[in-house]
Amino acid sequence: MSFPTTPAEVTTPAEARVDLSAIRENAALLRERAAGALLMATVKADGYGHGMVPVARAALEGGADRLGTAYVREALTLRAAGVTAPVLAWLIPPGEPLEEAVAKDVELAAGAPWLVDEIAAAAGRAGRPARVHLKIDTGNGRGGATAADWPALLERALALQAAGTVEIAGLWSHLACADIPGHPSVEVQLDAFDEAVGVAEKMGAAGPGVLRHIANSAATLTVPRARYDMVRPGIALYGLSPVPQLGDFGLRPAMTLVARVALAKRVPAGSGVSYGHLYVTDCETTLALVPLGYADGIPRHATNQAEVLAGGRRRRIAGRVCMDQFVIDVGDDPLTEGDEVILFGEGSHNEPTAQEWADSLGTITYEIVTGIGSRVPRVYR
Ligand SMILES: *Cc1c(COP(=O)(O)O)cnc(C)c1O
Repeated sequence: MSFPTTPAEVTTPAEARVDLSAIRENAALLRERAAGALLMATVKADGYGHGMVPVARAALEGGADRLGTAYVREALTLRAAGVTAPVLAWLIPPGEPLEEAVAKDVELAAGAPWLVDEIAAAAGRAGRPARVHLKIDTGNGRGGATAADWPALLERALALQAAGTVEIAGLWSHLACADIPGHPSVEVQLDAFDEAVGVAEKMGAAGPGVLRHIANSAATLTVPRARYDMVRPGIALYGLSPVPQLGDFGLRPAMTLVARVALAKRVPAGSGVSYGHLYVTDCETTLALVPLGYADGIPRHATNQAEVLAGGRRRRIAGRVCMDQFVIDVGDDPLTEGDEVILFGEGSHNEPTAQEWADSLGTITYEIVTGIGSRVPRVYR
């Protein structure tokens, strides 16, 4: 790692270092595992907390063909940054800036006729057809048309396609349990997807140029049948395993979260630490104050729980995680102000990984990395 490590070079109390070469490598690995399917890099939620625009560029450099976002505004942010690759936005309530999206060549997902209508109207105003990916709910129970409503959605899209305001660019769905190896619902959903595509074929809404896609990271890496024409991995792009019990799949974590010790001091045995005195020193020791807290995405639940790397050694958080800070007990180690504490990273230098944080906190890595707050600058390598 060639990140700055001495206090003189580091200019913020804490930062999230993002290794863009890891993003590129992970994209290349996913492209290979996609086995001929197109690779859509999912960069929603500010690139899973890594910074959407730099991550999108790195993913494209690594071989991603397309980008995926949840919100239309996320896609427009990519366009405003000069990213020209195809982008799909897939979570669209009423009243979104669809005219601007169509004008900027953002592809849009729709799982209900009202939304296809709204998109077509926006396309009319923009003066160009909108590229639409029609969503079928094959059993995730979130967005998308039910099998019963699917033909009506296709019919509406076909009518608008005939009118010239809409182009059917994709047929897609999302899996509920791809991260649970062997879960029977995966095959059930894929069968339902095949059936829905069959209906679309009969109606003339499928065929060459219409992308079929359903695979998230877990399915991309573990369910070959789910690849179809395109895969949409997110978490794996950031080097975090979508199925931790099956290992790391050769992915490399891109984010290292570091902070500089704000204050170090000797205290006697019996010293209560932080709100509620949930930690009390059992001997004379050094306490080090770390300037990150729950406002920065360090879960309050990490109180007396999560570990960090300080002075080359693992140390558990001592006492309550506060809004801006927490404390670690470093014993007699000569830790001092300005020294670097690594909360999590790649794991190659004995630092905890985001996976370890997730495991010790009863959550998933997605929540750890997307939760890192806006006060923490992202620094790129
Ligand atoms: C977030 C998301 C993905 C990516 O999921 P991962 O589990 O991070 O790979 C793919 N498709 C849709 C529709 C999503 O919302």
